[in-house]
Amino acid sequence: MSYIPYSRQNITRNEVEAVGSVLKSDFLTQGPKVQEFEKALSQTVNSKYCIAVNSATAGLHLACLSLGVGHGDLVWTVPNSFVASANCALYCGASIDFVDIQIGSRNICLEAFAEKLQKAAFEGRLPKVLITVHFGGNPSELQSLKNLCDRHGVKIIEDASHALGARYKNSIIGDCTYSEITVFSFHPVKMITTGEGGAITTNDEALYGKLSSLRSHGITREASCYTTFNDEPWVYEQQSLGFNYRLSDIGCALGIEQLKRISDFVEKRNKIAEYYLDQDWSNELMGQAVDATSTSSWHIYTLYLPLSIDRKEAFVKLRSLGIGVNVHYIPIHTQPYFRELGFSVGDFKQSETYYNQAITIPLHPSMTDNEVEFVSQSVRDLCYK
Ligand SMILES: *Cc1c(COP(=O)(O)O)cnc(C)c1O
Repeated sequence: MSYIPYSRQNITRNEVEAVGSVLKSDFLTQGPKVQEFEKALSQTVNSKYCIAVNSATAGLHLACLSLGVGHGDLVWTVPNSFVASANCALYCGASIDFVDIQIGSRNICLEAFAEKLQKAAFEGRLPKVLITVHFGGNPSELQSLKNLCDRHGVKIIEDASHALGARYKNSIIGDCTYSEITVFSFHPVKMITTGEGGAITTNDEALYGKLSSLRSHGITREASCYTTFNDEPWVYEQQSLGFNYRLSDIGCALGIEQLKRISDFVEKRNKIAEYYLDQDWSNELMGQAVDATSTSSWHIYTLYLPLSIDRKEAFVKLRSLGIGVNVHYIPIHTQPYFRELGFSVGDFKQSETYYNQAITIPLHPSMTDNEVEFVSQSVRDLCYK
């Protein structure tokens, strides 16, 4: 059996052709495919607006900027995420702090959040923004988070890099029912891919305007918006300090086709997750708990091993069998860069405890039944050796 990665892209011949036809067209970037992709994505997640960007990292940066995050501000996120969830605040000159997780859901712990908010309100040091991460595609408890945030004037960004196609109560992740802004990633290991890429969704017209401008150098070509120049045919105005965070037509052509298969991807991932959950090893190895009112997109399948199993031994053993296990995530605050900012091991104990026994086993739509069984059997052998 060949190497089974923990996640990977699934590309059809049709998608290769869609990209090929863009290569033969007039526009490789800033052509019609970008808007087509944005419109399709808005329809899929039921948002008013969508801005395609060249990564989720770029999307998170713009999301923070558009909400006015800057020097002197504070942003909170969870340690159990990819570093980009925290770096976006630092790009804006703001400070970052973390809220611990609940190990079962792998998501932000409501009690820890409520307690930290109360303390911050008392000390006059409330965050401007909470970036909540839907770990593995499992939606955070958005309703309760929003209730708490509303009480203290905190805005919510959803880092939904794992969660395209996930559902929470009666909403679709990305429809921004409980947040200002949602950000998706289209890196090849994620739910759909554009090569590199990401997208931002919002229902707020003013935010949409800011995000669109910031994506492309802070430049406008709308004569009605000019403040300084006359409307000459060659004129454009730079009105703020933006970036080049655009996604190309090549990427969007792939994204448009991939998006048509999102419900198939989610279904296939859910089938494999259910298979794992049904196994006799499932309880002991503590897969992720998903609330009955949510549908996870199952971007990754994580285990929280009991202390009787040595995680490193298990990791090396499974890798030696060609099973592409991984670990999600090294708690962000323990990275050397964040230690330099003043964080230490011991600051967020649940994230650290989880990390010490965490292992991600393969789950992706290209897996064959044989591969799923082989992974399951090999994982089972960890318990009953
Ligand atoms: C992958 C990921 C990102 C960054 O996505 P890019 O598109 O690679 O920039 C951010 N946050 C989380 C939680 C991720 O998993």
